[in-house]
Amino acid sequence: MPRARAKVAEVKSSPAKKNAPVIEMKSAAPRGVIAARMKEVIRELGEDPERDGLLNTPDRVEKALKYLTSGYSADISEIVNGALFDVNYDEVVIVRDIEFFSMCEHHMLPFFGKMHVAYLPDKKVIGLSKIPRIVDAFARRLQIQERLTQQVAESIEGLISPRGVAVVCEAQHFCMMMRGVEKQHSGAITSAMLGAFRTHKETRNELLSLLAQRTKSI
Ligand SMILES: [Zn+2]
Repeated sequence: MPRARAKVAEVKSSPAKKNAPVIEMKSAAPRGVIAARMKEVIRELGEDPERDGLLNTPDRVEKALKYLTSGYSADISEIVNGALFDVNYDEVVIVRDIEFFSMCEHHMLPFFGKMHVAYLPDKKVIGLSKIPRIVDAFARRLQIQERLTQQVAESIEGLISPRGVAVVCEAQHFCMMMRGVEKQHSGAITSAMLGAFRTHKETRNELLSLLAQRTKSI
């Protein structure tokens, strides 16, 4: 029975390099189209889009939105770029604390947090640094946290057919913090368990306790 034994390869992901965008921007809208609409939005909000501080805002918003949704044009096989390796290793691999930033599809406001990705290899592993990049590819879209979590898990499953994949995602949503219920400290946790992590309760519980232990040690 596949088990997440104590011997664990854990890799703490390094913070994203701020100046190294991992995904090329390829929005369908020609340059300036979104900016022109943003100018109207600013006007409709009762502001003067011609005043100094706002003059270049529509352009900046266009650039920001294209970057924040650049995951749509991400090609996972291009990101992985052959970094799949045949190994004789069958213990759990965990990449934890992967920072991500996404936008909720209901309000187009950010949600952000940390994702922990684990898998039980079946003779194949994926380059560890590729996992945060896969997370980014799915986070940089209009998303809901549940789907984002599931997509990351399915993507890893599709790439290396491991015996199991588990993704746990902890996030805070600006649409809850700044509007609506205005709860600043409530977070949402979602998980996607595939293969052995779904079918073997023991395997799942071992992983969850590994993640919990670590939280306590901070
Ligand atoms: Zn929302």
